[in-house]
Amino acid sequence: MPIKILAREVISKIAAGEVVERPASVAKELVENALDASATQISVEAQGGGVSLIRVTDNGSGITANDVELAFHRYATSKIDALTDLEKISTLGFRGEALPSIAAAAEVEVLTKADSDISGTYLYIKNGNIVKREKRSRPQGTTVTVHNLFRNFPVRLKFLKSATTENGHIANLLSQYALAFPEVKFNLVLDGRLILKTPGNGSLRDVAAEVYGLEIAKQMLEIGGTDQIISLTGLVSPPSLARSSRGYLSFFVNRRWVRSGLLARAAEDAYHGLLMTGRHPIVILNVYLPTQEIDVNVHPTKTDVKFRNSQTIYAAIQKSIGKALVKVPPPKIKTDTQAFTPPPSLWEPKDTVKTSLPILRVVGQLASNYVMAEGPEGLYLIDQHAAHERVLFEKILAQRSQQKIEIQGLLEPVNIELSPKQEEALKTKGVLLSEFGFNLEPFGARSYLLRAVPAMMKEGNLAEAVRTLLDSLVAEEEPSKREENIAQSVACHSAIKAGKSLTAEEMRELIKQLEQTNQPRTCPHGRPTMIHLSSRQLEREFGRTG
Ligand code: ADP
Ligand code: MG
Repeated sequence: MPIKILAREVISKIAAGEVVERPASVAKELVENALDASATQISVEAQGGGVSLIRVTDNGSGITANDVELAFHRYATSKIDALTDLEKISTLGFRGEALPSIAAAAEVEVLTKADSDISGTYLYIKNGNIVKREKRSRPQGTTVTVHNLFRNFPVRLKFLKSATTENGHIANLLSQYALAFPEVKFNLVLDGRLILKTPGNGSLRDVAAEVYGLEIAKQMLEIGGTDQIISLTGLVSPPSLARSSRGYLSFFVNRRWVRSGLLARAAEDAYHGLLMTGRHPIVILNVYLPTQEIDVNVHPTKTDVKFRNSQTIYAAIQKSIGKALVKVPPPKIKTDTQAFTPPPSLWEPKDTVKTSLPILRVVGQLASNYVMAEGPEGLYLIDQHAAHERVLFEKILAQRSQQKIEIQGLLEPVNIELSPKQEEALKTKGVLLSEFGFNLEPFGARSYLLRAVPAMMKEGNLAEAVRTLLDSLVAEEEPSKREENIAQSVACHSAIKAGKSLTAEEMRELIKQLEQTNQPRTCPHGRPTMIHLSSRQLEREFGRTG
């Protein structure tokens, strides 16, 4: 086919498809417009998953009669003016694409009135053309109603999920904006049912109560902090409130709801060692940065941002969440019997447990895997490998911080072949390895001789251990985590293996050492080292109570 420039209609459909991915995108753009217009009340109504109808009503500034039609032209905006404005965007919208895109993908009615106008303006737009325009009265503000979304986009329509799923996206979107703007009253009605209503009193905790429930909102911890460029506010969950998905992470940058791997990583890393693998915190985090520190002009949907100083931001988030978390004792380990009690939100432990262990008496070993011990509060089943890992992890970190790593020279050096990535990690982060007591000497192409290791490591497949360690360094982007990674690898390699029978003396020694650690109840990866069956639980299980 010869090259030709596409017809206007085709261009506008392509562009519309980028902005309006699904019904929730329409809701998003309209809500953003309402917020940019300084509305204090925003009501959203949707029917049929947003395909039949989406209506957003606000009490914001309104659009003057002169400007209404212009608002539906592509790249028509009142929010930025010159190129330099792109570097200091403070409104949610700025591309002037939403209204024309929506009008290209659906039928649109708008009724709006600005303060300066005596009456309001009503427009009806079909296939991108204005088919009706009249004066109508209404108080200051704007109502945009979108009908039959994607009727002319059969492919898009086919790819939409069920109305329930699309409703879910709209509900999530409104929840996010409600969390970002606690001073605005939000109202969401889906297929005639009131789904969300926020008080608009400025309290984030009150919005969180509407979105996540009162029980959760009550337990959330307040965070805050300011340094040179960044300022943070928000609420985060104590570790005991962890969820099994990342769906409870909300990030707002200068009040824009964003998805950001960096922010998610920073927040989740702050819980490192406090949550079991596969569990995630609830985080509502507002990040404020000077507008020139971020770039929001990444994609038409404006949900991606780029940060100029990602290191600073990562560190600030870790620090401020970490500060809130140190005040909380670590999570109580739940046994299966507790976990069976429905519904989930009720079995979150309300009482907290102190970190330290009581004095334990070893009873015996189970399946060459677990140490059984008895204490004043009942029975403890301790995972011998995880427990020993915890002991060694803290030991090697302590040795390193005092620069007293115990080193073991190898009588027979071990030849290690490295992959290019592993070799790269060794070249760039090798100093850290030597600080932990590893001595690796180049020995031909991608081949090295291991001459010394941390003393606790001496046995087992050392070549494999070093390769695994280098892999973990490759994967770790955060410098402050690298030390921990090395300590984890060393501890994991050196700890007693599962399946090894232990003498009574060995078990007593292990428990004694575990008692002396800072976090005896979790292994360095955050998994539990032990399961506790309280005397009360035992009595209940045996039917001795009640
Ligand atoms: P953008 O938000 O990027 O400027 P839009 O296409 O979403 O582009 O909107 C175009 C213009 O219409 C906005 O710049 C604003 O002036 C006006 N506008 C849209 N919605 C509203 C609203 N709810 N209240 C007041 N003005 C609005
Ligand atoms: Mg807009």
